Amino acid sequence: MKKDVRKAVIAGNWKMNKTPSQAAELAKELRETVAGADCDVIVCVPFVDLQAVSEAVKGSNIHVGAQNCHFEKSGAFTGEISADMLAEMGVEYVIIGHSERRTYFGETDVTVNLRTKAALAAGLKVILCVGEYLEQREQGITAEIVSMQTKIALAGISAEELKNVIIAYEPVWAIGTGKTATSDQAEEVCAEIRAVVCGLYGEAAAEGLTIQYGGSMNAGNADELLSKVNVDGGLIGGASLKAADFGKIVAAASK
Ligand code: PEP
Repeated sequence: MKKDVRKAVIAGNWKMNKTPSQAAELAKELRETVAGADCDVIVCVPFVDLQAVSEAVKGSNIHVGAQNCHFEKSGAFTGEISADMLAEMGVEYVIIGHSERRTYFGETDVTVNLRTKAALAAGLKVILCVGEYLEQREQGITAEIVSMQTKIALAGISAEELKNVIIAYEPVWAIGTGKTATSDQAEEVCAEIRAVVCGLYGEAAAEGLTIQYGGSMNAGNADELLSKVNVDGGLIGGASLKAADFGKIVAAASK
């Protein structure tokens, strides 16, 4: 982390877990656990939990996000949710391009770009996910894959809009597997992403950009991962569902 230059941000991705009442309960627990945080704290929850969680964290330091949004403003897209709908609810953040959406729901670099643009236009802040599959890492093309994902996702996005973007580097092989990237691997790719952003937007924009690591980050490895200069926080799946564990990660980012 380089907290004198950019924000440290810990975000929980609750994925498809917690009914609204369970979500409100966890959110209330988290309020206490992260009250003294010296970093930004976000929880990205299922659509149907947004209302309950927003109410449960009102007046606290916890920000609320969704896990996806559609790229059209409205229309015949059964089962989808628009960025304007989220914004009107008071939702602040949205995850775009998570690898589970890319893998299971046909998300492509192009639709990630469209969704990112729609979210920013609606006034949402975006947590944009990029990351390589294990075979790609083994082929030695991680930098190329992640650079390409970053460039396509950011196509047409202005330097002003970029201020509302966080990039999450999430190696697919580390998500939900318990297999964490080493802190050196995380640092190497986060630095690569920053270099790509520098090439697109210049030094100041790149230096100010928050880049998270995500992939089995937990209470035991957060300190080490966050000690790296280009790792500005974490996107946390499994460990975000336990208030005590999430609190320890937030505490690591608050140092
Ligand atoms: C994620 O869902 O973005 C994630 C990183 O999950 P986990 O922490 O469970 O690997």
